[in-house]
Amino acid sequence: MHFEVTILGCGAATPTLKHAPTSQAINWQGKWILLDCGEGLQTNLRKFKIPLQKIELICISHLHGDHVLGLIGLLGSMNLFGRKRLLKIAGPSAIVEFVTRSLELTHTHIRFPIEFIDCNGLGDEAVITWGENTVRAFPVKHRIPAYGFNFLHCPRIHRLRKDSIDAQGLQRSEILKLKAGEDVVRDNGEILRVQDHCEPLKPAIRYVYSGDTEPCDAVRTAAKHADVLYHESTFLHELSATAKSTGHSTAQQAAILGKEAGVYLLILGHLSSRYRDENRVLNEAQGHHPNAYLANEGMRIRIFPGEKPSVHYLE
Ligand SMILES: [Zn+2]
Repeated sequence: MHFEVTILGCGAATPTLKHAPTSQAINWQGKWILLDCGEGLQTNLRKFKIPLQKIELICISHLHGDHVLGLIGLLGSMNLFGRKRLLKIAGPSAIVEFVTRSLELTHTHIRFPIEFIDCNGLGDEAVITWGENTVRAFPVKHRIPAYGFNFLHCPRIHRLRKDSIDAQGLQRSEILKLKAGEDVVRDNGEILRVQDHCEPLKPAIRYVYSGDTEPCDAVRTAAKHADVLYHESTFLHELSATAKSTGHSTAQQAAILGKEAGVYLLILGHLSSRYRDENRVLNEAQGHHPNAYLANEGMRIRIFPGEKPSVHYLE
């Protein structure tokens, strides 16, 4: 099991020579997911060798241009390169109209099916679930409807110890029960306990993406004990009033939230071009969360169960 995030863009508002607007690619054991589609996304998809046609799901946090203006171009390219397989797009309700109208007006005739997932209507339901993996959306506090996303790998299926299968002469029904985490009581009163006959469950993996937001409880809750939290840090704390009025967070707020949630690794994103020296953003955050990093294009974060997440940089 492995989980890998590649940062394709981490700048705020507008493309600059330093940063592309927000976008990330996730490789979750071979399943490819995009998080936001800022302008210029396709260049970095190519640069960092993300397999375009293998992308199964695109999660859009909100409809501000710097998070969504790369989406239509991407759909056009997928079409041009002969995509046939289904693409799922999750986001705020208006994503359906944005995509369908943009495709119509640009005469982009898509020949592959798109399934929209309206995050507003999901309630407790996940965006997608497969095996022991779940993607959930949660509403955050921005100027327009906006969501964060929570990626959770939570092992539930126990692996039997081989010596137990041989020694106990386990029946099929008993094996199924133990695998599901239930103790078995035999007719003769003998109890077969999960902890005696199964390997310990591997630890969970959790990655949380804040999207654009003021500091809010929804992120704090989702990020509880996360391996990695990617939190926007658009401003330094000296501009906290501006952050509040525009629905954004300061580096200090992101770091305090990460610390309170018990996050192991904090990645600071949505970096504003107003700070030529981004180390000011990093230093402010590290005063509250020592394990904070600045996002950068080509940054790759790897998470394996039971190990500390690691950060690498692609050329
Ligand atoms: Zn925004």
